[in-house]
Amino acid sequence: MRKKDLELALEKIGGWRFPSPKKTYEQYTTPSSIAADLAWTAYTRGDIEGRVVADLGAGTGILAYAAAMLGASTVLAVEIDPDTLRILSLKAEGDPRIHVVQADVGNLVLSSMVDTVLQNPPFGVVRRHADRVFFEKALELARTVYTLHKANPDTRRLLLGIAEKRGFRCVVAKTYNFPLPQVYREHFRRIYYVSVDAYICRRLEG
Ligand code: SAH
Repeated sequence: MRKKDLELALEKIGGWRFPSPKKTYEQYTTPSSIAADLAWTAYTRGDIEGRVVADLGAGTGILAYAAAMLGASTVLAVEIDPDTLRILSLKAEGDPRIHVVQADVGNLVLSSMVDTVLQNPPFGVVRRHADRVFFEKALELARTVYTLHKANPDTRRLLLGIAEKRGFRCVVAKTYNFPLPQVYREHFRRIYYVSVDAYICRRLEG
């Protein structure tokens, strides 16, 4: 499979949009091009195939699905919102490796670590620090973390500082132009774009 095939496959499955997005949960789907690119980046670094992957704030499941298609052994898709869980569960029926868990990520406890977290959490615009909760939880649960956050210098400093304290080496690998539906902002345009950083964090052993 090539990255483009993954993107096309995700598009073909479709139905990733939130039918009625809830503002408090900051529900916006990762476009298939970005989902495929992020999952592919993780895949080429050996962090997906045969790995246990968690998708925190999985939404309708596009990242979870991408990980499963790239050969993850198990994918945990964690989501808080019951309406979204229904869609996510239907999607998960398409792949037996995807397991759906209802939980508030802030309170999530797992009996063992996962190899990789692949996540696009809330950006913490509506609920301040929601993004940080996801970032810290990902570092707690995984050896390697791929995570998207709104790009700005303060957030970068903050997240990179947290990662260092937790014994991770972390880089901002790329920045995407991410489309947000208008519902999240009073605006004339139907969609507007924000810059979103992709962080890759790896636990330093020893
Ligand atoms: N990861 C998906 C959805 C991103 S939107 C994608 O990339 O398309 C963020 C998701 O996080 C939403 O589905 C929202 O309901 C969920 N969410 C928000 N707060 C949460 C929390 N505290 N615990 C678990 N999920 C949460």
